[in-house]
Amino acid sequence: MADNRGVVYIGTRKVEVQDIPDPKLEDPRGRRIDHGVILKIVSTNICGSDQHMVRGRTTAPSGMVLGHEITGEVIEKGPDVERLEIGDLVSVPFNVACGRCRTCRQGDTGVCLTVNEGRAGGAYGYVDMGGWIGGQARYVMAPYADFNLLKFPDKAQAMSKIRDLTMLTDILPTGYHGALTAGVGVGSTVYVAGAGPVGLAAAAAARLLGAAVVMIGDFNKERLAHAKKVGFEPIDLSAHDRLGELVEQVIGAPEVDSAIDAVGFEAKGHGGAEQPAIVLNQMMEITRAAGSIGIPGLYVTEDPGAKDQAAKTGSLSLRLGLGWAKSHSLHTGQTPVLKYNRQLMMALLHDRLPIADIVNAQVISLEDAPSGYADFDKGAAAKFVIDPHGMLAA
Ligand code: NAD
Ligand code: ZN
Ligand code: ZN
Repeated sequence: MADNRGVVYIGTRKVEVQDIPDPKLEDPRGRRIDHGVILKIVSTNICGSDQHMVRGRTTAPSGMVLGHEITGEVIEKGPDVERLEIGDLVSVPFNVACGRCRTCRQGDTGVCLTVNEGRAGGAYGYVDMGGWIGGQARYVMAPYADFNLLKFPDKAQAMSKIRDLTMLTDILPTGYHGALTAGVGVGSTVYVAGAGPVGLAAAAAARLLGAAVVMIGDFNKERLAHAKKVGFEPIDLSAHDRLGELVEQVIGAPEVDSAIDAVGFEAKGHGGAEQPAIVLNQMMEITRAAGSIGIPGLYVTEDPGAKDQAAKTGSLSLRLGLGWAKSHSLHTGQTPVLKYNRQLMMALLHDRLPIADIVNAQVISLEDAPSGYADFDKGAAAKFVIDPHGMLAA
């Protein structure tokens, strides 16, 4: 090692690639841990969740190393690691989970009770998620490795599909979780809000689950054109603000069986101004009675950039009465990646799901990460995959 570099959050709309310390088998409090591994990072993606921090919309501290979508090769392991060997290629769920607490044992690894002193749930390189060092870097430490990491069965085969497999760390399981919790099944009509990578992954998951029609709404024309190109029904929200009518034009009815929020709290209204509750309210409007709404889009407890006082602490103007009257089920939260990543890996290895093309994976170098962040912030129709050792380029 000794040549570690990583993407560091400096302040609003500013990230830099800097020399950072080599990872150690230590937790965020500096205590030695024997259950971790050190990874040489093969790929690490930029996420819309990172953008919330980089846009100054969270309380992320300056100096934090970013990155929670990590795929890597084991180069060192602690003495308690039994199921992984040096040289194994692994997918790291963005959740840090202990595997031992009540919620982990139920499979709810997005809200592990022991890896974050502040609240339930841990992650790498993320505000309020326990201080685990991020992996938009050359090397990183992953704790509870036997429990958390998914080993690819054949390294050469995995490297040949790495642009797809890199999506297993977050967005593919997240899209799948969004679709499942929205009740998508054979013949479902589905509306996905947001044509970013998570929206596209949710749409792809809905198709895999047998949906009859998958619509994706956004204002971003380039992203809508891409969504159409990969086989989904685009809904251009800049037309007007009556979503039910736009849905009706596609499926002949103003309501869908399942709706998925892949936007989150920075949602915009028709006029372009931010309206943090708009997607949630629109979904209750367009989801049929007894339908379900999956909400992978992120909502925060602290938003220093919010326009109104209530939203600064995550209080939004929800028309919950409507959802209640229609007996909707709403499902929120961080995705428990471990619940889904092995099955989805099999789907990728057996060519059931061309996720890299669906989200338009674009490989960039670590040094180019700041321009990747800037392009993604501008709404590029792409998912940026950082290649810190030039292993994908090769
Ligand atoms: P992104 O920012 O690239 O995409 C969001 C899209 O929503 C943009 O294209 C934007 O134009 C669009 N949008 C804005 N207002 C809209 C509206 N009213 N209706 C429809 N579209 C609208 O982000 P992404 O990487 O695709 O991530 C999407 C969300 O998912 C983020 O909030 C991210 O934090 C969250 N996320 C959650 C989890 C989880 O575990 N729950 C995991 C990954 C990402
Ligand atoms: Zn992510
Ligand atoms: Zn746990």
